[in-house]
Amino acid sequence: MVSDTSVASQPEDQLRSQSAYLAALHETTLALMNRLEPADLLENIVARAGSLVGTPHGFIYLLDTEQQELVVRVGVGIFEAIVGYRLKPGEGLAGKVWQTGKPLAVEDYHSWSGRAQVFENSPRRVRAVAAVPLKSGPEVVGVIALAYTEEGRTFDAVEVEALSRFAELASIALDNARLYATVQQELAERRLAEERLQSSRDQLSAILGGIADGISVQDNTGRIVYANDAAARVTGYPSAAQLQKAPLAEILGKFDIVDERGDPFPLDQLPGRVALQGVQSPERTLGFRIKATGEERWSVVRAMPVCDERGRVKLAVNIFHDITERKRSEDAQRFLAEASEVLSSSLDYETTLASVARLAVPRVADWCAVDIVNEDGQLRRLAVAHVDPRKVELARELQERYPVDLDAPRGVANVLRTGQSEYYPEVNDALIQAAAQDDEHLTVLREVGMRSALMVPLLARGRVLGAITLVSAESGHLLSAADLALAEDLARRAAVAIDNAWLYTERKRADEQKNELLVQVRQALDLRNQFLSIASHELKTPITLLKGYAHVLHRQAQRKGDEALLKPLRVINRQVERMTNLVDNLLDVSRIESGRIEFETAPFDLVAAVEDAVGDMRVSTPDLLLRLDRGTEDVWVRGDRPRIEQAIMNLLVNAVKYSDKRREVDVSIGRQGNYAVVSVADHGIGIPQEQQGQVFDLYFRAANAPANNYGGLGLGLYISKVIIERHGGTIGVLSEEGKGSTFHFTLPVLGEDSR
Ligand code: ADP
Repeated sequence: MVSDTSVASQPEDQLRSQSAYLAALHETTLALMNRLEPADLLENIVARAGSLVGTPHGFIYLLDTEQQELVVRVGVGIFEAIVGYRLKPGEGLAGKVWQTGKPLAVEDYHSWSGRAQVFENSPRRVRAVAAVPLKSGPEVVGVIALAYTEEGRTFDAVEVEALSRFAELASIALDNARLYATVQQELAERRLAEERLQSSRDQLSAILGGIADGISVQDNTGRIVYANDAAARVTGYPSAAQLQKAPLAEILGKFDIVDERGDPFPLDQLPGRVALQGVQSPERTLGFRIKATGEERWSVVRAMPVCDERGRVKLAVNIFHDITERKRSEDAQRFLAEASEVLSSSLDYETTLASVARLAVPRVADWCAVDIVNEDGQLRRLAVAHVDPRKVELARELQERYPVDLDAPRGVANVLRTGQSEYYPEVNDALIQAAAQDDEHLTVLREVGMRSALMVPLLARGRVLGAITLVSAESGHLLSAADLALAEDLARRAAVAIDNAWLYTERKRADEQKNELLVQVRQALDLRNQFLSIASHELKTPITLLKGYAHVLHRQAQRKGDEALLKPLRVINRQVERMTNLVDNLLDVSRIESGRIEFETAPFDLVAAVEDAVGDMRVSTPDLLLRLDRGTEDVWVRGDRPRIEQAIMNLLVNAVKYSDKRREVDVSIGRQGNYAVVSVADHGIGIPQEQQGQVFDLYFRAANAPANNYGGLGLGLYISKVIIERHGGTIGVLSEEGKGSTFHFTLPVLGEDSR
């Protein structure tokens, strides 16, 4: 129930004064107008209408447009129970008001002929009733009805008029309330729709935010209306939100856009711009060089237009696939491959390193310098490169005036000491001050405008050969950890190249020395051979004479039976024989060494040659027990029989000479396949194991055969080896020191047809 009874509490006589009445009407209306919520508006209207005419009993019908019926929506006083009662047009008092659109009042409802059933069950008798229409424009949309229960009390014309006016205003209030409700509902619906939209947008942006590719959406003015975090990264913004807020000009102004060759890319060709013209743009590989940091990011960019239902381009969707890492590692590999090619192109490492330094600029850094430690431990700047040759000159001057202080705690000096790289991703003024050697140096260093720097060691076989320094300055590009790794790789390759060049030079020098030595040795050998040849020839003549006269004397003494003369003459003969042998051997050696020895090639029976040698030996050394196992068949070979006999003789002489006390020698001749094998075995001093490989070398004498006990020059076995090998055979020895030696040689056997 409505509690506001201010109108009702006013004295009746005042109410009846028209101006006060209108004032109350006005005030009531204002109160209604402010009450926009429709929920309790009807109750309020009926209560205020009742107050206006001084009754607590009233109700309101509203039109049910679908059924075309009036329905009681609210009832106060005795009418609380009739809510829901329905009337057809023309039925009862309200039905008439609805039909005519005019107010109507009856003095006693029960005695009124047009009455409806509506008040049948009302707790108190209804007497006078007044009904006024509620309208929306010309349409009647409801009826307000009020009643007196007091007998004799009726609605006069003023009251009906007042109620009619009130109803007009109440109609407006109702209209407003309805409108308000509609607006509220629309608002609520819109809010709901917006919430749904927002949540689906949130979902979409959560999905797109998680994508590694950058995505941005531009409206048809080019403004960015959506971007994900990856798009922000590509364009150098800290977050997607900041990128979305930024004006297009600011975004484009932040970086230089370049194509794959590094040339500026025309902005009107950007895929997004092309897409906004309604054309699907081809994929572009673009570099975004962020001006502030010098950082360069690369993306494959695609864009496609999004059209509205009429086919007009509404949006462009850009997709950036970040390929920075791939591009960097490709560039690095390409750079290293080119550098390696340059390094391996020549052994002149000073030139190749200068070329590599030039290759590194500006691809890796703005400056590149190579320093090498000389043999005397001094540092030498081998190369310095910058795109601008004037700057190279400046660097050279700087280096001359301020050479690297090898005691400095940082920089190249420290890299040389430790063999470890140094990396300054961002060079600040404090670092520059620390590096400067005086005020002027500081000024120049500051002018260089270093942004970042790194120094890597040239390390080969554990030795620091020098260092490579890379500096970034005016390009604004900051040297990254990837650049450091690249520089270290480059330095490793450069160091190997330097090391190889050094090794090569050293080896060349050693080779030259060796060659010089060889020439000297050859000259000495030639000289010796010359001497041997001359000396042996010079000796040959007197010895032959000596031999001849000794022979004559020996025969005369024999004839005379002069024993006193025969003894010394025998000694003379033996010694002359030895000298002849020696001179013959020396002559042979000189012939062999000078390549002048020649051999006959006639077939002969090797068994016969061995028998002859053994026979001679038996005659000259009668106390020797010399056994011969000659086999049963002839063994024919081809060659120089006297020379082969000479070789056999050498073996026999040695067997006797190195036999000491047990003078027993076994000679055998046999066959092994197509080879004849001759062996001479003694039981003498043998040859030390470790020297057996050398017994056939010229001038070799074993350690267990000192010259004072066993005469000899180490010629016989050497000559024998040459003779046997020149006949297509082999020669060798089996020996045990203190037990004896077995020398053996082979010769190819002649087939029966070739004899
Ligand atoms: P030499 O005139 O010195 O004997 P050879 O060339 O005939 O020269 O022999 C070279 C060296 O080989 C000898 O000095 C000796 O040490 C060793 N030698 C050769 N034959 C024998 C052997 N039958 N027993 C032990 N040592 C031998």
